[in-house]
Amino acid sequence: AVLPDASALREDFPLLGERVNGERLVYLDSGATSQKPRAVIDAEVDFLTRSNSAVHRGAHTLAAEATELFEDARTTVAGFVGTRPEQLVWTSGATAGLNLAAYAIGNASIGRGAPASARFALHAGDEIVVTEAEHHANLIPWQELAARTGAVLRHIPVHEDGTLDMDAAAAVIGERTRVVAFTHVSNVLGIVNPVDELVALARAVGAVTVLDACQSAPHLPLDLPALDVDLAVFSGHKMLGPYGIGGLYGRAEVLEGLPPFLTGGSMITTVTLDEAAYLPPPQRFEAGTQPVSQAIGLAAAVRYLDGVGMDAVHAHEKQLEARMGEGLRSIPGIRLLGDAPRAERVGLWAFDVDGVHAHDVGQFLDARGVAVRVGHHCAQPLHRRFGLTASVRASTALYNTADDVDVFLDALSGVRSFFGAGA
Ligand code: PMP
Repeated sequence: AVLPDASALREDFPLLGERVNGERLVYLDSGATSQKPRAVIDAEVDFLTRSNSAVHRGAHTLAAEATELFEDARTTVAGFVGTRPEQLVWTSGATAGLNLAAYAIGNASIGRGAPASARFALHAGDEIVVTEAEHHANLIPWQELAARTGAVLRHIPVHEDGTLDMDAAAAVIGERTRVVAFTHVSNVLGIVNPVDELVALARAVGAVTVLDACQSAPHLPLDLPALDVDLAVFSGHKMLGPYGIGGLYGRAEVLEGLPPFLTGGSMITTVTLDEAAYLPPPQRFEAGTQPVSQAIGLAAAVRYLDGVGMDAVHAHEKQLEARMGEGLRSIPGIRLLGDAPRAERVGLWAFDVDGVHAHDVGQFLDARGVAVRVGHHCAQPLHRRFGLTASVRASTALYNTADDVDVFLDALSGVRSFFGAGA
């Protein structure tokens, strides 16, 4: 892969030219949300300016045009993750996609919403397995599903080096496991999890697999059918796209066998006062008015990513990750979370600074123009596992440069002496 010239790419992202606190902005918070290229902003503005109309409804010209643009966007985004449009459900984001999955499985469990496949029904004592490294979005919906069905929630622990304990995984995933939900890349550890091994363990016991691809989709080539997961979610705003849009991918037979979660307009065929018949996927899962301009914006985002090339994006970010990891290891008093020697990673490091609260580190860096995330990053159980309540996280995207990393490291090297916590 030819590495992108990140300095040239930056010109496409208007916000990256802004100054913060009088300093050049060094944006290292793409794990929370990415910046948007002008192509995405323009795509939304163009749609709203010239083609805005409700889709799948009116007979008028604008409605037909909007419908075509909207469904083209579905084809484009589906293609980006290696799939077909029928297998991509629009959601408002990853959290909505994971809740959709958990609630749909819950409806199958109580026999609501034909045509539910018996495969998805959970019974008291059945088990749902997650990992200790999940974002709350891929944990709490499963806690709730367990509570509603009498299923038991179990977890795969994380080793001290941030990798999953795969021996424990083989023991935890067993005869009673019905669902295995796990993240592709943790938003705190940055490590790429062994999807193949987890899917093999789940398949062996007939469990449904649910992948949280939020932190992989913007950073590496993603072929969801090849990963062989049953369901997967991703989030538009983390992959150069708009807010309020995300995707739920499902294998065809999985989507066909799942009942809907939200119900209402746009997802039905015939309705009487007593009952309703539902459309096939993906419409069955898209009740209400669709996020049309957002879908069109997300299509522009993945076209932009494809234009650079995801192999090149990944290679570029790996270089940034290595440079950042090396620099962080050389600063006294820094403890990296998930510093597994040979792990495959994306450009993201979370760390603790001995003697300085994460929020103070964040403010110190902000005063120097460096934007990082501080707190528990919606992963409290993982922080607890490392004996922390908060950490600092620096995360890259394709538009970051080696200079961004150096400015960040240089600023950080002064943080402990500034707060009187040692050199
Ligand atoms: N999962 C992971 C791993 C995440 O990093 C995030 C966002 N922080 C989410 C889920 C939630 O995504 P969204 O903002 O689209 O709901």
